[in-house]
Amino acid sequence: MDKKKIDKIFEIWQKANPHPKTELIFTNHYTLLVAVVLSAQSTDVGVNKATKALFAIADTPEKMLNLGETKLKKYINTIGLYNGKAANIIKLSQILVDKFNSEVPQDFEALKSLPGVGQKTANVVLNCAFGHPTIAVDTHVFRVGNRIGFINETTPEKAEIALLKAIPKKWQNHAHHWMILHGRYICQARKPKCRECAIEKFCEFEYKNFS
Ligand code: SF4
Repeated sequence: MDKKKIDKIFEIWQKANPHPKTELIFTNHYTLLVAVVLSAQSTDVGVNKATKALFAIADTPEKMLNLGETKLKKYINTIGLYNGKAANIIKLSQILVDKFNSEVPQDFEALKSLPGVGQKTANVVLNCAFGHPTIAVDTHVFRVGNRIGFINETTPEKAEIALLKAIPKKWQNHAHHWMILHGRYICQARKPKCRECAIEKFCEFEYKNFS
């Protein structure tokens, strides 16, 4: 897709939602990190329900360690894969205390070295906590990017590189939020709502759904 069209799409998204944000609820960098770890293969709504009570008592690595893994599990047992996620949160909290002065590091490799933190999580934290122009490729970003015609890639890793190349710098800070929201509410996986879609005239998807 040519850059002019890409600009048009982002202008529409920006006009509709000038300051897009993650729908995960957090109170500081640490609770953002924990929320993003919990959100892997789970919905933001489900994570927010569980973390409301959890973050009221454990919003720092020290407090999480004091709470301990067994009690942590009780707070998050409605979230998929909670056993593994609880173990990772306790381990990463200990590492933050021991190695990073209890702070969430503003560094991609340091973030990725933490248990339960992969490429996508590290990118979300750098973007949402520190304003880095990263593009975290989740299922929505991957689908929307390929459907609209921004990219034509087969893996999230390749998609991230291609999106950073295709999307002009001025949009990169908010790009992944706009794409997630578009994918979550309009360009849905099975039945995209093309009739309601604000960017329909610029979208290059072959199989639009107007039913
Ligand atoms: S026109 Fe349809 S396929 Fe294209 S972005 Fe909009 S909802 Fe998605």
